[in-house]
Amino acid sequence: MDAFIYNANPGRVVFGSGTLSRLAEEADRLALKRLLILSTPPQEAQARELAGSLGGRVADVFPGAVMHTPVAVTEEAMTIVEAKGIDGIVSVGGGSTIGLSKAISLRTDLPQIVVPTTYAGSEMTPILGETKDGSKVTQSSPKILPEVVIYDVDLTLSLPPELSGTSGINAIAHAVEALYAKDRNPIVTMMALEAIGALAEALPAICADPGDRDARSRALYGAWLCGACLGSVGMSIHHKLCHTLGGAFDLPHAETHTIVLPHALAYNAPAVPEVMEQLRQVLKTDDPACALFDLAGKVGAKRSLAELGMKEEGIDEATQRAFANPYWNPRPLEKDRIRNLIARAWRGEPPLVEA
Ligand code: NAD
Repeated sequence: MDAFIYNANPGRVVFGSGTLSRLAEEADRLALKRLLILSTPPQEAQARELAGSLGGRVADVFPGAVMHTPVAVTEEAMTIVEAKGIDGIVSVGGGSTIGLSKAISLRTDLPQIVVPTTYAGSEMTPILGETKDGSKVTQSSPKILPEVVIYDVDLTLSLPPELSGTSGINAIAHAVEALYAKDRNPIVTMMALEAIGALAEALPAICADPGDRDARSRALYGAWLCGACLGSVGMSIHHKLCHTLGGAFDLPHAETHTIVLPHALAYNAPAVPEVMEQLRQVLKTDDPACALFDLAGKVGAKRSLAELGMKEEGIDEATQRAFANPYWNPRPLEKDRIRNLIARAWRGEPPLVEA
């Protein structure tokens, strides 16, 4: 076995159905008495209901979280943190709400209890991407990592099928890139394969029946592991392309990941034969890149960047940007092939493995 380094991120996970009822107990464990509850505007009712269940432990609710963690929104929330003597953050929602929680903790080191309701996996990482003046700056710090994560399967039942599918494939992307990361290790590989298997099986079942609690449970378990992979090892060309496309053309996060992943995997396939074999086994297929393309179809996701609103002229710009501050990748980046990859993703064609 090759030598490796494994960095475990600290954190407590409470997983199951009905686990939200443990929130007050978790706040008491951390001796928190003046909580700020965060959500997006559409999840405000859920945040207020949760505040009600916490009684006198809640000092305020801020339902203003939005995508991409704009610094202006964080500063608005920070005025409440300072004015109300907040001693802990509870966030209920997806990556956008969790991003705001992380941004506050980066500035204050306040403890965070996170209740994820999508499969994005941000709750498991010490990484924060903030936007200011149109550009996204990503940073990492132990202060950013939430102290407690409460996964309650019941809260994911309302996640619409299409969003469940793309959010779940966004999670799979973290695990796929963890398999060929430069700093990969056997523990993360084990988590990644377990997660890919769980999500690939659960997502079509969720789309067929969004109330399927067993499938929801397996998807949330898979998403947790995918988030842990993302928080443990470096990501490669797939994440670079998605960050580039999201930042340059304001494309939606999970949908972009869903479209790009089969193509990014096909690009890297010739450089990582052992990973492709692992994926063949876990996805029960001869062609893992096509299987991920088919999975996107099964969950009813859009399969072309054109459908997301990206203009054809953007293909060249995205190619240029992919080469600015590139992430480490197992296959050296070749301009023509990366352009072809983006062009195929733009047109919605199946992925193509080229030696
Ligand atoms: P999101 O948080 O923006 O949620 C999408 C929408 O779905 C929101 O309106 C939200 O209120 C709603 N929603 C969430 N859960 C719901 C539920 N159970 N039922 C009904 N509606 C629900 O989307 P996301 O994909 O979870 O997060 C995307 C953001 O997270 C991006 O900004 C991305 O950069 C960030 N992210 C960060 C990391 C990290 O490690 N830093 C990792 C993954 C994602």
